[in-house]
Amino acid sequence: MKPNQILVSSDSDALANSRTQRQPLVLVVDDDSTYRTLATMALSKAGFEVVEAADGGSALALAQSHDFDAMVIDAKMPVMDGFETCKAICEAKGAMTPPLILSTGLNDDASINRAFDAGAVDYVTKPLNWRILVGKLKALIESFETKKAAQQSDKKITQIISASSGAHLILNHEAVIGSAEGTQSLPSQRRYPLRVGDCLFDVVPADTVPALLGAWKKMLTSGESGPVLVANHDPKDPFVLELVFVATGQGQAIAVIKDFTGTYLAEQRIYNLAYLDRTTGVGNRAHLIDWLNQFSDAADPDQNSAVVRIRVSRWQEQELRLGRSGLDALAVMMVKRLQQVADPGYIREHFSHTAQTRVSRLAEDEYAIALAGAFPTGFLNDFAARALDLLLQAYEVDATHVRFDARIGIADRFQVTANPVELLNCASVAMKLPNASQTDRIYLFNQQTRTQLKQQADLERYLRRDIEQGVLHMAYQPKVDASSLQLVGMEALLRWNCQELGNVSPGTFIPLAEACGLMSDLSALVIKKVFAQLVAWQGSSVDGIPVAINISGSHLSATDFVCDLARQLECSNISPDLIEIEVTESIMIDSASCAVANLHKLRAHGIKISVDDFGTGYSSLSYLGSLPVDVLKIDRSFVQSIHEDPKSLAIAKAIITVGHELGLKIVAEGVETKDQLLTLRELGCDIIQGFFTGRPVVARELLQEARVAQQVAA
Ligand code: C2E
Ligand code: CA
Ligand code: CA
Repeated sequence: MKPNQILVSSDSDALANSRTQRQPLVLVVDDDSTYRTLATMALSKAGFEVVEAADGGSALALAQSHDFDAMVIDAKMPVMDGFETCKAICEAKGAMTPPLILSTGLNDDASINRAFDAGAVDYVTKPLNWRILVGKLKALIESFETKKAAQQSDKKITQIISASSGAHLILNHEAVIGSAEGTQSLPSQRRYPLRVGDCLFDVVPADTVPALLGAWKKMLTSGESGPVLVANHDPKDPFVLELVFVATGQGQAIAVIKDFTGTYLAEQRIYNLAYLDRTTGVGNRAHLIDWLNQFSDAADPDQNSAVVRIRVSRWQEQELRLGRSGLDALAVMMVKRLQQVADPGYIREHFSHTAQTRVSRLAEDEYAIALAGAFPTGFLNDFAARALDLLLQAYEVDATHVRFDARIGIADRFQVTANPVELLNCASVAMKLPNASQTDRIYLFNQQTRTQLKQQADLERYLRRDIEQGVLHMAYQPKVDASSLQLVGMEALLRWNCQELGNVSPGTFIPLAEACGLMSDLSALVIKKVFAQLVAWQGSSVDGIPVAINISGSHLSATDFVCDLARQLECSNISPDLIEIEVTESIMIDSASCAVANLHKLRAHGIKISVDDFGTGYSSLSYLGSLPVDVLKIDRSFVQSIHEDPKSLAIAKAIITVGHELGLKIVAEGVETKDQLLTLRELGCDIIQGFFTGRPVVARELLQEARVAQQVAA
């Protein structure tokens, strides 16, 4: 037996008994006042309320102004007799005429027929037997009540149906559909058809039954339910119907149905636009904040909430390789991996913690996992490490293997605040903190972070000051010919000896300068120093040896970069073939960019272009042919593992072979051993740069360094 049926049948009596109890009102019409008095006494005793009228005219007037439950009318009266009175009342009241009983002294068939013709429903003979009269009145009144209720319910049904333009069902006291109108066009009909003979609760989506039963119960007690939504959120077959139950009397109910599917879908589209990432279908920043907000007031001190924010490195660079659709496919894969670790079941199994989670995409290359639950801060590091592990594994897109690097910033309520916006911001700050080490990719915002931020602010202040005062200086690292080990070039490398902090590595201050907009000033300082050095070297033994200058993408993109450089060259009277510009391959990605346009211009001025750290930036050798490039610098990671990792050897070999075919010179960076040098020489590498042939040194030490290396290698 279904629980809904028990409820329906047990409550249906309540529906039938809900009529209000009051004393029936009877009009007694007689010209004989004694009779009227006797009738009033007898009927009052039997529980009726009695109103008297002495003639037909006043009876008619009273009938029009009151709703009587019955009337007892004397047949023989002066002026307007009982028959005429009956007729007049019937005409006046129509369908609402109460039962009329004619009292007559004449017990003949003709009078009885006349009484019925006049509209009476029964008759009593005089002298009246009060018991019989009372019995008849009770029976007639009850059937009149029933008739009135039926008429009212018919009227109500008609009203409800005409007011609702939509569909409706007539249901019996067990919610079984007795008739269905206008349901054919409902979007629910395909999966959940409403058919005559079915119990409504059996033919709606199961998760909507409790609300629907609640509404049904409310209708049973108060005659009408509030609106209740019957929805199916399955995107393949969505519908949203609003259903209102109205009791119609006699244990019946009507269900008025309105279709809100169109509105729902439109709202959902708006919601999706405002809250969801279109590519991956997960929420965006606003969605994440909304989600976290529901936990921000929790008073329970064990309740933590957190944001694990993830930025993927070099995301845009992949667009050239994979195209837009490839990038989108990658984003979907990344989200799937994040959802896998963020699954509460996975968290319980692998970390023995309970957390609710939400994965979001905050930007093209940025994701976040929000967590809420009773977990300690320490868990977040392990959790983030697992997420990172998964994220860094190779992806396969259109038969291409892709790998990414990523950084993670974490902020949680215990360390920071429960405010979702602040959590997001602090996680972002943590994510962007300068690397403590190359392998450290996960940062948790804590008290130390605040100290670190302060240190970073100090560092920025000192750097700004020292750039302004020009106290940074250059070191020069020799580049030598791979066969003869003759000095063929130098790379200018910045050195910063900060008064407060001592030597700061370029790996620290270059990214900082980039982040705080100091890069152009820094580059200008480098150019100034190098040009001054070239002038100073004129006439010395290194006169005529070209110097490579590292130029960042942001500086190279500046519109007046080439003009400024050319002007400075001219002012210093330096030949352009003494200058080489080193750029990283990432700036070559967009061949229509301002940076590439500037490279073309530099080349037109006779300045050589060198691609730094080649092989790390995922760019392909094939596009090099069309770009303004003269030199490729094999990244030192390949050089250093050239004997340990066959892949490094293969990459170095490929760069040298293809580079040569394109007419480029190849420099190997980071050569630290004689074996590395010999292997590279064998592979046909043109130029060697590294600690083995010379460390970066200040200008005056340069010549001596190069000479020593030459002797060692010989
Ligand atoms: P980079 O352009 O790849 O410079 C080569 C780096 O490798 C230098 O580090 C150099 O000291 C180091 N190196 C050279 N030979 C060896 C070797 O045999 N073994 C090892 N382990 N390292 C070697 P440095 O001077 O610390 O510079 C780091 C990075 O900072 C540079 O990498 C470059 O990207 C940037 N940088 C340095 N000076 C400048 C500059 O004037 N402007 C710009 N934009 N960036 C600069
Ligand atoms: Ca370089
Ligand atoms: Ca390099």
